[in-house]
Amino acid sequence: MVNLHALPASALRGEGMTSQRARDRLVTKLVEEGIRDERVLEVIRQLPRHHFIDQALHSRAYENTALPIGHGQTISQPWIVARMTEALIEREVPGRVLEIGTGSGYQAAVLAGIVPTVYTVERIEELLRQARRRFRQLGIENLRSRHDDGKLGWESDAPFDAIILTAAGDRVPTKLLDQLRPGGVLVAPVGGPSQQLLVRLRKGDDGTVVREELGPVSFVPLLGGIG
Ligand code: SAH
Repeated sequence: MVNLHALPASALRGEGMTSQRARDRLVTKLVEEGIRDERVLEVIRQLPRHHFIDQALHSRAYENTALPIGHGQTISQPWIVARMTEALIEREVPGRVLEIGTGSGYQAAVLAGIVPTVYTVERIEELLRQARRRFRQLGIENLRSRHDDGKLGWESDAPFDAIILTAAGDRVPTKLLDQLRPGGVLVAPVGGPSQQLLVRLRKGDDGTVVREELGPVSFVPLLGGIG
């Protein structure tokens, strides 16, 4: 598991808008907006989000907003990263988590600070290349990534204890539910381009799925194929 206390100084260095104080202020805001899980708050307090976005946007890195990362995609809003992570680890910390939609790599890095092993899949090769460079620079080693259509999951390493989708489709792809172990949990935005709900699915030991609605959200679409 990544030890954020051992991050290279260069990764944590920041001044003004990218400083520790800016991260602390973001965490205060997240607490005000209902995030309670200390494990999640601690990772967000330590992980340099500015490292996951273009330099031109560094001054906005610790605002509680989604930001563009190129290719028409966005790094998710910190609140939603926190909420989804909380929803995923609430009952127990899963051993192996599969993320669909690496994007900037921020959500994957947050997970890597909490769970033993993270698998992440991205369909846009250039975004994945940049995310991998960031993982390397931050010394994150408990994470495997792959360029593929995430709707297919990661068959060779299934089943997973938890699955998180960070792009929205009309429904959760069957292959992903198939790759969730009995007792596992899946968190995903579900819906069309204008209206989506964050849902949590729990797979019972007998394979039945229980669905919970966690509230309205807004994500980029889950697309097919690779880019
Ligand atoms: N978790 C990301 C959020 C990125 S936005 C972060 O923390 O920055 C969602 C990402 O999902 C985009 O990068 C998009 O390219 C990717 N995506 C959309 N459909 C996909 C699919 N079928 N397979 C893999 N990635 C997909």
